[in-house]
Amino acid sequence: MTWINRLNALGPAYTTEVLPTPVPEPSWVSRNFELGKALGLPQDWLEGAEGLQVFSGNGLWEGMQPQASVYSGHQFGQWAGQLGDGRALSLGEYASPQATLEIQLKGAGKTPYSRMGDGRAVLRSSIREYLCSEAMAGLGIPTTRALCLTASTLPILREKLETAAIVTRTAPSFIRFGHFEHFANDASPHGLEHLKQLADFVIQNYFQSENFSLTQPYAKLLECVTVRTAHLIAHWQAVGFCHGVMNTDNMSILGLTIDYGPFQFLDGFNPQHICNHSDSMGRYAYGRQPQVAYWNLFCLAQALMPLIEEQDLAMKALESYKTTFAESWERGFLCKLGLEKQADPDQAAEDKTLLNDLLQLLANEQVDFTIFWRRLSHAAEQTQAGCTEWQSVADLIIDQAAWALWRNRYMNRLHHQPSTLAISKMLQVNPKFVLRNHLAEAAIQKSKMGDHSEVETLFKLLMTPFDEQEQFESYANIPPDWASRIEISCSS
Ligand code: AMP
Ligand code: MG
Repeated sequence: MTWINRLNALGPAYTTEVLPTPVPEPSWVSRNFELGKALGLPQDWLEGAEGLQVFSGNGLWEGMQPQASVYSGHQFGQWAGQLGDGRALSLGEYASPQATLEIQLKGAGKTPYSRMGDGRAVLRSSIREYLCSEAMAGLGIPTTRALCLTASTLPILREKLETAAIVTRTAPSFIRFGHFEHFANDASPHGLEHLKQLADFVIQNYFQSENFSLTQPYAKLLECVTVRTAHLIAHWQAVGFCHGVMNTDNMSILGLTIDYGPFQFLDGFNPQHICNHSDSMGRYAYGRQPQVAYWNLFCLAQALMPLIEEQDLAMKALESYKTTFAESWERGFLCKLGLEKQADPDQAAEDKTLLNDLLQLLANEQVDFTIFWRRLSHAAEQTQAGCTEWQSVADLIIDQAAWALWRNRYMNRLHHQPSTLAISKMLQVNPKFVLRNHLAEAAIQKSKMGDHSEVETLFKLLMTPFDEQEQFESYANIPPDWASRIEISCSS
């Protein structure tokens, strides 16, 4: 096995070595054998008793160099100062012929950055992170991945007494916007030097494929991160994903979805939907995510300013957010509608109106987002095959007159589309299954009783969310009434 730790090798400013704190009676909850295989990890990692010890923080393999990294960040719009890996702990980077990946334990005990926290994560939130990272991967959305989930009998106090769990997660890097903010705000003589070293490190190790000019590498870095973030958020919006805590310390420099907390996939379509019970002002409401991402990128730009030096260059890099996001969002939603983007500006504008009118109609009645798009995909496909069956879609909508008007415009548009290719792809972009809160909740309740079968079921189901998987029809249904009463907060 080859273990490296490139961030650690940069010097003591970035990381602190820290050992995981052992837990009593560790047990497996779930293992992601496919990911292990795809990453080229040794098979016995997830099968042997030794693996259980390592992934519950009770042992280490030779070569692992556990350490926590320091970062800062803006939380809910305010500068929060120093944060850091308070309960995440990197075991190092595992280098295999397939990839070099950082492997982290989340919830393995206190680190120098734990502040008032206990360094732990509870089973409930760990199941949510484990399942959602893989659900996002199944949807084709950039994300950190989850390798396995272990539990323990260690009692953990949150609002009530719970038990501890540890998610092992992987990513090429877990570096966040907040890492840059940290060194930009370090007034010590070495602050700027560390900031530059970090930026150079990120460029060299993670952006090799991009064409970096030697004269303005840092503006280019900002532009690359901006573009990746714009695509990421557009993707979130298209599947109705709400992150819930888009603080700058939860924004990946690689444009990955990171730090799954009070996230939610929309049930009914409501742009004002707030999934985080702790977010009383709705800062991170679904419809605000695109603006918040821009605000966060602005923080990153400010942090990089000492390196970029010229404000115009930073602003230009940031500007790419607006165009990239708008294009990516529109492309994503046109794909959901089975429409190809039209070259003629007037026709393209008409399509945009068609889309916005639909979103307004869905918002008026808070129509179930996932079910609507899935049924529309089936209906459009059948229309293409010559039979018109719109009833299943119409059943979701109360204002039948408004629906009929919109449907006629849409059908008309479909009939005039020269190719049917885009329609045939609708079922590949509009998922049948997403990790709704109530599905995760059911798995959590069972797991708390020691039965992890529902975690396993959801895990497998969500890996291929576009497949029909008829035997799991009920997982694609409208959520039960109790789903709307589930409250997910930052507590985890
Ligand atoms: P989050 O809201 O989960 O992104 O966490 C914000 C910051 O608080 C990060 O620096 C976390 O590492 C830290 N943190 C959250 N929960 C805990 C905990 N239970 N123990 C220690 N640090 C924590
Ligand atoms: Mg975080």
